Amino acid sequence: MRLAPLPRPRLAVWSAVGLFLLALGATVGLLLKSTHGDALGESEARVTRFVTGAQAGMNRTLLAFDVLLATTEELLELATSNRDHFDRARASELLRTAARQNLMLRYVALLDGQGRLLASSIPRGDPQAVELPPGFLAAAMAPTVPTLAMSAPQLSTASSERVLYVARPLRLGDGTQLLALAQVPVDALVPVLMQGLSMSDLEVTLERGRGEMLIGVAAQQSLVERTQAAGPPLGDAGGIAADSWGGSARLSGAPAMVSARPLLYPDLWITASLPRGAALAAWEEEARSMALVALLFGASVVLAGIFATLYLQRMHGARQVAARSKATLDQALSSMVSGFVLLDADHCLVQWNQRFEEMFPWLQGMLAVGLPFRRVLETTVHYNLPGMSAEDKRAWIEQRLQQQRSAQGTFEQRLPSGRYLQLTERATPEGGLVIVYHDVTDLRRAAAEIENLAFYDPLTGLPNRRLLLDRLGQACTAEMREGTLGAVLFIDLDHFKTLNDSMGHEVGDQLLQQVARRLEGCVRGSDMVARLGGDEFVVMLLGLPGDSDTAAEQVRRVGEKIVHLLAQPFHLGRQTHHGSCSMGATLFGEVLQTAAEVLKQADIAMYQVKAQRGNALCFFDPGMQVALNERARLASDLQAALPAGQFLLYLQPQCTRDGAIVGAEALLRWRHPVRGLVPPAQFIGVAEDSDLIVAIGHWVLRSACAILARWAQEPGLGGLSLSVNVSARQFRQADFVELVTQALQASGARAHRLELELTESLVLEDVQDSIAKMHQLRTKGVRFAVDDFGTGYSSLAYLTRLPLHRLKIDRSFVHHLGERHSDNVVVQTILGMARNLELEVVAEGVETEAQRDFLSDHGCDVYQGYLFGRPMPVDALEALLAPLGQ
Ligand code: C2E
Ligand code: MG
Ligand code: MG
Repeated sequence: MRLAPLPRPRLAVWSAVGLFLLALGATVGLLLKSTHGDALGESEARVTRFVTGAQAGMNRTLLAFDVLLATTEELLELATSNRDHFDRARASELLRTAARQNLMLRYVALLDGQGRLLASSIPRGDPQAVELPPGFLAAAMAPTVPTLAMSAPQLSTASSERVLYVARPLRLGDGTQLLALAQVPVDALVPVLMQGLSMSDLEVTLERGRGEMLIGVAAQQSLVERTQAAGPPLGDAGGIAADSWGGSARLSGAPAMVSARPLLYPDLWITASLPRGAALAAWEEEARSMALVALLFGASVVLAGIFATLYLQRMHGARQVAARSKATLDQALSSMVSGFVLLDADHCLVQWNQRFEEMFPWLQGMLAVGLPFRRVLETTVHYNLPGMSAEDKRAWIEQRLQQQRSAQGTFEQRLPSGRYLQLTERATPEGGLVIVYHDVTDLRRAAAEIENLAFYDPLTGLPNRRLLLDRLGQACTAEMREGTLGAVLFIDLDHFKTLNDSMGHEVGDQLLQQVARRLEGCVRGSDMVARLGGDEFVVMLLGLPGDSDTAAEQVRRVGEKIVHLLAQPFHLGRQTHHGSCSMGATLFGEVLQTAAEVLKQADIAMYQVKAQRGNALCFFDPGMQVALNERARLASDLQAALPAGQFLLYLQPQCTRDGAIVGAEALLRWRHPVRGLVPPAQFIGVAEDSDLIVAIGHWVLRSACAILARWAQEPGLGGLSLSVNVSARQFRQADFVELVTQALQASGARAHRLELELTESLVLEDVQDSIAKMHQLRTKGVRFAVDDFGTGYSSLAYLTRLPLHRLKIDRSFVHHLGERHSDNVVVQTILGMARNLELEVVAEGVETEAQRDFLSDHGCDVYQGYLFGRPMPVDALEALLAPLGQ
């Protein structure tokens, strides 16, 4: 899954930071520019003010010098004097008085045209004290219009200080030119120049127009010795046109604001230069602070930008994680097999998945975030419960909403489409609701299927044993409570196993299904037909009259109807089957019984019928139960009989018509310590119910072989055969052939003297197995007889496939010979058929001569019965034969 990249927040943040920094820079720049201008303007105004003041001061000073020098002419009355009559001493005296008027002057002197000192205020009139700079005398005396001249400064040898001279030409009365001169220490002029102000870095000069520097005062009023100004001459045209920042400082030459003012006296200028650096020093300081503040501000903005970026990145990351989680959740929801809906606290839709839409197709198109769930329910009820009245629909919706408010657990809904939905509702912490719709239709169907399998027989669809026992249990108490009776009919199909084995399971299944339908057809809806398994069915009749005789009568009618119904031919594919059933019946509801007890009684009654060849109905009576209990006791005694040596063999002779003994049948007897001699009819069946018959049968076989082996040695007995009865369970043992062979070998008996008696049903139980085993033993000489012939399945077709030696006509046919026509026919048929198949026939149970004669007339070979001899101990039979042997 790929997520669409979210807009990157970094660009936005840094754009904002950049813009802010630009604005900050521009503001600071503008501010600096403005303060820069202000700083320069202010300095300019100050310099201008200063220079104007200095100009005025210097003009006043020079005017004072000029006036003093000019007044010398009048003071010394020069106009009336001549060179020859000039009183120097007086003149000097007057000059001293004059010189005292101006304290800035070192002295005042009067020189002649050649520079000689005429008079001076110098106390001793030392001419050496006047040391004029070269050329100054001439220059000072040159102007035709007398004016004040000023010399260049020079170092006075007398006072070792820098001095300059101011001079004014004068004339004597005779026209002789003189020069009034005053020496001024430069230091005395500095305060005039500086106005008493101390402007740091201000350079103030007194200079001539051509740039000759007279006095230069630099920062902190220090004098600068410089003969020539740094900038262009001031007097020239185009020198310093106006006060401006374009010039160079007059002393240091640094870029500066220079303001120059001419003095009243020709060629003298006063200048003030403020170097740009000094003018802007304060501004620069301020600008630095401002820049620092701006820088700090900018840095903090950048820092804020970084933090914002980090924060936004983290937010971005968190949003992406959230988006990814949401996408994963969406994907998980869409791949859920269950429908899912999330509602908010107001019961409006927040989220749902594809499956939800599929489950409720009518909601497609209307689902939207924020849709009240009530609308969903309204639409659903419209489609889902169309038959409901409007009021019922409203009630249903309110009930659902109420249910959701409590949001408890899981419940199921059945849709009109037949589908089952399981709804799970859970409240969310925000007060919303999560509903999960799980389609449990398959689960319910499977459960129904399982229930069906658990309680119904899959072949016939009838209730099975479990369901029957359950209903029977309920019915037992219900009938007792109501004072009515119920009945159970236990039905077992006769010879079903034979049909199943011979015609196949499909045919057997068809028969069972048809039987089920017939049984269902002959009971009321309140009654019940169940299949217990195999060919056993049970019909439960309920609500019979409380009088047991009347109830039994009704049950008999139903039972006989069923017996009759099941005796009707069944059409199984192309075959027609004639069947019958054995039915046991019992009433319940008179005393308290369990379902199992009731069923057992009916079962016992059914066995009673079965024992009497089936196709009938028998009611349970308590005597049956007694017999059954007896049978159980017998079974336990039987367990001990063989090891205790309680069995013995009796032999019953088999004779020719004239009584010659040709063989014998070995018949088992049990000498019970209490009961005495027990006939096999009482215990063979019990032994056959368990594997006990196998061991007993083997004992009989070994005993018979021992007798035969002995007879083989006895003269006259060696020709006798011995018949041994074999039970089905014994014959079915995998090692039966081997055991017989071993018994013969171990005893040394002759195999062809041994005859094994099998019943028809035994042979037909598993025809293939029977044929295989019989053939194996037949090849060893052992003979086979079909015992009780005629009572079984009556399918004679198998006879041709079996290696048989004899048929033994069952004594039930023999018993009524000559009395019952049908039996006569059966016996005649058997004898005729045996003749055709070249089989020997033995007639059992021959008790009368009439029977013997009938049999004899129709070609019977051998006779067995009381007429010829009862079963007797072996030695008794041998005693009978003794005369033969002799
Ligand atoms: P079965 O093989 O048909 O044996 C013949 C039965 O008829 C014998 O009963 C015999 O006493 C009886 N009987 C013989 N002649 C007459 C007669 O003239 N009139 C009457 N009413 N009965 C006669 P028994 O000895 O009680 O044996 C009953 C059945 O028990 C036998 O019937 C046989 O199926 C079975 N049986 C006996 N011994 C054994 C044995 O060793 N092994 C097995 N598996 N079954 C045995
Ligand atoms: Mg027999
Ligand atoms: Mg028999």
